[in-house]
Amino acid sequence: MKTLNLQALIILLLVSALVVLSALYVVKAPVFVAADEDALAGLNTNQKRIHWKMTTSWPKGFPGLGTAPETFARHVEAMSGGRLTITVYGAREIVPPLGVFDAVSNGSVEVGHTGAYYWKGKLPAAPFFTTIPFGMTAQEMNAWLYYGGGIELWRELYAPFNLYPLAGGNTGVQMAGWFNREIKTLDDLKGLKMRIPGIAGEVFNRAGGTAVNIAGGDLYTSLKTGVIDATEWVGPYNDLSMGFHEVAKYYYYPGWHEPGSTLEIIVNKQAFEALPEDLKTIVEVAARAANQDMLDEYTARNNAALQQLINEHGVQLKRLPDGVLKHLKRITDEVIAEMVAGDAEAEKIYRSYSQFAEGVKAYHRVSEKAYINARDMVEE
Ligand code: CA
Repeated sequence: MKTLNLQALIILLLVSALVVLSALYVVKAPVFVAADEDALAGLNTNQKRIHWKMTTSWPKGFPGLGTAPETFARHVEAMSGGRLTITVYGAREIVPPLGVFDAVSNGSVEVGHTGAYYWKGKLPAAPFFTTIPFGMTAQEMNAWLYYGGGIELWRELYAPFNLYPLAGGNTGVQMAGWFNREIKTLDDLKGLKMRIPGIAGEVFNRAGGTAVNIAGGDLYTSLKTGVIDATEWVGPYNDLSMGFHEVAKYYYYPGWHEPGSTLEIIVNKQAFEALPEDLKTIVEVAARAANQDMLDEYTARNNAALQQLINEHGVQLKRLPDGVLKHLKRITDEVIAEMVAGDAEAEKIYRSYSQFAEGVKAYHRVSEKAYINARDMVEE
């Protein structure tokens, strides 16, 4: 009996141990499985490597404009630890300079670097996101975009085209351009053939000139052969490399027509939305860094280039007369009023832009402008 009892006790203990182990397994097993699934899901969304193609409106590596997309791509790759890589293509390597909007919109490429004012034909409000004549400076534009509701309006405008826009660089105040005729009065604009695109081109036409649009690569020859009498481009740093000083006598300022042109990084909306949250933030932050970096580069390099143009190449630097500037401003107001009339979206964006501009201009009269005037006054 004792032996039997002992055997029964051993069997009972073994069965109990099995029951306890099974119970532990039942409790533990799903936890392990769930943890593994989480880890795998994490790998799928966070560790997957993504590659984007970026097409641009500039020749590859073009000073200033062409370095911004490279800066953006480099930052994205470094910040993401190589999880999102971007290959940058110059104009015409994939699509022509003005094919960027459509190529990103239809998903042929995931991202592009270009300027919103090129899309004025399909979107009358688009120029407000680059620059308008006598409009806001780079500092003021960035304030409107990031703290004045501008970027939200921009995203609303581009959403039907499957695009997610980001500010991607700023040239700062441009130069009025290269002229082979001196501009002393309004009469000097009459019959003047000038390469000046966009809204400013329309203003220039109404002021008596003839605005023509010529691709950057043909400008030098057009000035040299007299096809045009004048051209605007960007500023000294870019203009010096174009060689305009060899074919035009006078270099005029200020760039009334482009007081702080914002470039754009446009991302295909599906491609952007498919990114995990951390990569979305990386794209946003890298664009913001590239946006500021371009302005810093132009600010740092423009003066040295201007001095070289004047001192080594004998360029005559001239300011547009007050009367000419005032007349161009009056026409600009008319052209912009006509441009937005009847387009609800453009009217809304113009209202936001101009309300913000009024406020920032009022404050800049007692800050940036007052300080720069005071600094010049004490140096005189
Ligand atoms: Ca320009």
